Parts: sequence; C-alpha cells; structure tokens
Amino acid sequence: MAGPSSLRGRQSFARVDFGQRPGEVPARVCFHMALVTTAAVVLHAFKYSESSKIVRLATEDVGVQSAVAKGAMRPKSKFGARLQVLSGGVAEMYMKPNRDLHTLAAFDVTRQRSELAGDVERYVTATALAELILRLAPAEPNPTVYHYLVAMLDDLVAVDRVNLEPFGLAALWGAVGILGFAPALDGCACDGRRLPDGAAKFSIADGGFLCQTCAATSTSATTLQKQDRQTLEKLVSGNIDDIAPIPPRHAAAHRRLIVRFAECHMNEDLELKALSMWERMWSDT
Ligand SMILES: [Zn+2]
Repeated sequence: MAGPSSLRGRQSFARVDFGQRPGEVPARVCFHMALVTTAAVVLHAFKYSESSKIVRLATEDVGVQSAVAKGAMRPKSKFGARLQVLSGGVAEMYMKPNRDLHTLAAFDVTRQRSELAGDVERYVTATALAELILRLAPAEPNPTVYHYLVAMLDDLVAVDRVNLEPFGLAALWGAVGILGFAPALDGCACDGRRLPDGAAKFSIADGGFLCQTCAATSTSATTLQKQDRQTLEKLVSGNIDDIAPIPPRHAAAHRRLIVRFAECHMNEDLELKALSMWERMWSDT
C-alpha cells in the first residue's frame, strides 16, 4: 500500500501530530489524517453496513474512540473474528481531527479473554464495566482509564465466584471514580459539611451523601443505614476483602444505586443495556 503505510511504525499518539507539518510526512499522505497505533480493548462492536462493522475502543493513547472496520463482515476479511467485545490488542487507526468516526486499519489481538466469554456471570460483569466506560469516558486521552479497565478485566478472570458480585460493584464504583464522578462520602455533596457517623441520606442527583440541612430540602435523597453506608465506602475504595457478605436485599439496593448513579451522570439519554442486565442477573441467581 502506498502513502499512509509509510507512517507505520509510529508507536504512539504522542508522536503523531495529524500531519500538520507538511515537511515531515510523505507528499501522498492526506495532511489531515494520521495513522495511530495504540493498545486498545474492544468495548462494543456492531454491524454498520452489509460489509462493515463499527467498533468502540478504549485506547491507551487516544481515549475512547469509534472506528469503522471496512469489510469486517466479509468472510475473508483481515479482521476475521478479531473484533470481539472485551478483546485486547493493538489497534491501527487512521484518525481525522474533529471527527467522531475514524477508520480501523488493523487490530492485532493480544488478549482474546475467552475465559470471560465462557462464564456468563463474569462476562456480563465485564460488559457492564465496558459499557460504563464507553458511556462516561471522555474522548480525550486518558491512559488511567485504559489501564484500570485492563486490570479489572484480568482480575475478573481470577476473582472467586463468591466474591464476584461485590467485585463487580467495586469495579463499577472504581470506574465511576476514575472517570471523575466519584460520590461524595466524607462531606456533604452540596456544601462539604462534615458528616457524622451512622445512617445518612444519599442523593444521586447531587452526587453523594448530604448533611441534614441539605437533605431536608432534597426530594430525591434516600437513606442508607450505617452498614450500607460502610459497605458503599468500601466498594468505592475498591476494598472488597473485608466486606461481609451483602444480604440479597441490600445487594439489590447497591446494584440499583450504581446503575442509577451512572445513568444520572451520562450526557446522553441512553439505556445502559449491559448494566441493566448485570443488575438483573444477580436477582435471578
Ligand atoms: Zn449540606
């Protein structure tokens, strides 16, 4: 392939400048497009046309991005079966600045994560986490989000089944925190006033616990008893080792809380299908 392929070998977004300096790129390359090579995890993949797919990728170097994989539906496509949700690998994308949809040139899988695909509860937990990141992550580069996702997917393979539900809760709350929406736990979400121990009102809309004064005027706050409050604090801190088994009714309330919290802080009014499935899954077991 002529032109753009000569840019292959550039390893990170940091060294790609969208070809803004004409003297540094071959004359045949479109100056507004750059080939970016970055580690990535497939968050979502769907059919786009008769022959193509669109993938949403969490990338190490360029944030969460969408790309069209042209010809991916064809039997002899170079993408083959590589574009599976949760697969990790190295993506090569032609990126145009100020565009929402880029072009996927290649995706070399390094981690298929078939261990997750073969276990419904782990898989649904992983897809809920992927969806949360897909919906809440900004397009700006954020390696921390990418590394968190990879670490959680790896841990999810290994976590004991008995801890799978609290692990999922902690992983989702951890993602919410890394994405910049951590709930206020120590001080009032509205005025920062320090909160006494014990039961407290939690407001999803305000983003955390409320002091008595603010809670008195809130119409949406719900009471978390002392033990549920402590459980939430441990989940948000990612500390699941010393969480006592959560009684089913309380666990259902914790699942509802994280799903509603995520919905409330999304920009778009979209149903969180994987998170809803995760929320319901534990009710059925
Ligand atoms: Zn307050």
